[in-house]
Amino acid sequence: MKRTIALAVVALAPTASAWNATGHRIASAIAYDHLTPAARQRVDALLQKHPDYATLLTSGAPPDPEGRARAAFLSASVRPDIIRNDNRFYDDTRENAKPTPLLPGFPYMERHTNWHYIDEPFSPDGTPLDPVKPPNALTELRRILKEIGQSGNDLVAAYDLPWLIHVEEDVHNPLHCVSRFVRSQPKGDAGGNNVFVMPGRNLHALWDDAGGSDPSSDYVNQFAAQIMLEFVTRRGQHPRVSRDPKRWVREGFELAKREVYIFGPDTGSREHPLTLSEDYVSNSRRVARTQLALAGFRLAAILNETFK
Ligand SMILES: [Zn+2]
Repeated sequence: MKRTIALAVVALAPTASAWNATGHRIASAIAYDHLTPAARQRVDALLQKHPDYATLLTSGAPPDPEGRARAAFLSASVRPDIIRNDNRFYDDTRENAKPTPLLPGFPYMERHTNWHYIDEPFSPDGTPLDPVKPPNALTELRRILKEIGQSGNDLVAAYDLPWLIHVEEDVHNPLHCVSRFVRSQPKGDAGGNNVFVMPGRNLHALWDDAGGSDPSSDYVNQFAAQIMLEFVTRRGQHPRVSRDPKRWVREGFELAKREVYIFGPDTGSREHPLTLSEDYVSNSRRVARTQLALAGFRLAAILNETFK
């Protein structure tokens, strides 16, 4: 009985949000600062046409046009998470979901909570695997990349852009590319959301927060500058990076097996979470530094290519 209750709570809890707002802002800062002038101009112009530009995207932004444009880009990266709690929108993944009214300037009102991840399955103990289902992060990244480059409709492109930024960054979190199946969890662990650990609420949350949790501009800009420097020190001033979403997702999946699920088959429970070592936590932070930098450089690369 107790188990049933615990599972019901898990099912209602907000799922995979991916890098927290701080992580998204860090990767976006790196990306924005590496846009070509042409790409930056196009991106700025598109975001100004977004129906939430004057509100969500520029709330608290500096008044000067350049600072405002950069702030809008960073806020755009967090928007797909913010609308999870915005009652203008509805969760289309729920059974019997009740659509909310279509507002002027919006192409659709779905929250699309299943666009944030791809549950590529694996099992360390031979548990049968569920196949990946569409739509997912990979199907949507491919679709949006195509649509945003070809669309003669700026409103569609403007609405696509925050999704492109957000999901590109999400898949650089290894727990957005995986679901682990073990005998005690034959439906998978939802990207570590159902593995309970200390510190953190669960494995997914621990990795979401691995870039820190301070959303202030000072922290974000400083952290972004540090990991950018680390990245170019290793990869050169103009690193060549992959623009292929399939490859990003494949790397995330391999990274999950190599760096995330290294504590054995246990899943912990709310009452008795697994204790992860200090070494584990510091390694997660090290991996996150690289992945956030990579997400930033790759995002710049696809935007520069798309908006030549
Ligand atoms: Zn997300």
